[in-house]
Amino acid sequence: MKTKSEWSRTQKSLFLQCPRAWYLQYGETNKQFSNRRNLSSQRPWNLMLRAIKDTMMDQLDDLHQGKEWSRMLIQHQLRSNLNENTKNSIYEISPRKRDALLKFANNRYAGLWRTRILRELKARKHPQWHTFDRREPVNIEGNLLFIAPDLVVRVQNKWHLFRFDMQSSRENICKEEEANAMAIWAIQHGGFHSSPSAFKLHTIGWLQGYWQQNTFEPSTSSVSQCQRLLTIDMKAMKGLRDAGNHNLALIPLARHHRTCQTCAFRKSCPGGNDLVDAKKEQTLLELSLRNDY
Ligand code: SF4
Repeated sequence: MKTKSEWSRTQKSLFLQCPRAWYLQYGETNKQFSNRRNLSSQRPWNLMLRAIKDTMMDQLDDLHQGKEWSRMLIQHQLRSNLNENTKNSIYEISPRKRDALLKFANNRYAGLWRTRILRELKARKHPQWHTFDRREPVNIEGNLLFIAPDLVVRVQNKWHLFRFDMQSSRENICKEEEANAMAIWAIQHGGFHSSPSAFKLHTIGWLQGYWQQNTFEPSTSSVSQCQRLLTIDMKAMKGLRDAGNHNLALIPLARHHRTCQTCAFRKSCPGGNDLVDAKKEQTLLELSLRNDY
């Protein structure tokens, strides 16, 4: 059976941080389409971020139907989503830790609704807008791509595509490439124009204590470049999947030990104990296998 490829920002980020963790999380053949994977092995912090996102999407959906949320309802929904996300967690989350996570969530969430676009939606400035579920993939040439925007807003003659990242990273050097993936989604969606110039792309992400926004104007060449890069990424992931199915011990380990500290596989992975040592052992294993041939 031909194995389909997947692409999502989460997968790509993990692939860059630690190929082995990516393989264990997404790459093993029996873990296909694992974007819908169990939440139990995810760190409580990430589940808190997910609770913020879930709450935002629920609030936007209600706003779309003309329903306003009170502050009390927001707090209730954040708590309820956090409880739901963490109910089967393999990590112990004490009441104190849960309260601390909720404080972070409330603070971040309040700032989120002070961003310009959400204030404008609340003020009913834009009559035409829709939310989309980024967890729903699009099938492009047999590959599943998780590239939908979270929000699409019509402003004059353009569609503005928004992606919200509950946690951004300075190291994310592919912001424009990844933003262009939203234009690919919109073009193949069919409900919008098919020209890249009909769109404006926005990413809004939490970085260093603030919600920061980047805006990009897609063009035919930036969209083609993005398509090429997505293909290269999926090819690299497929290569790693094949290599891992052949011999897991040779899959590269994390680039930095910080990744291991929050990794769900650290107990069963040599890198989780001592990354430097594990990398040395892996090099020796590679050499000995080469000598055997
Ligand atoms: S423990 Fe470290 S090296 Fe091992 S899978 Fe996790 S991140 Fe990668």
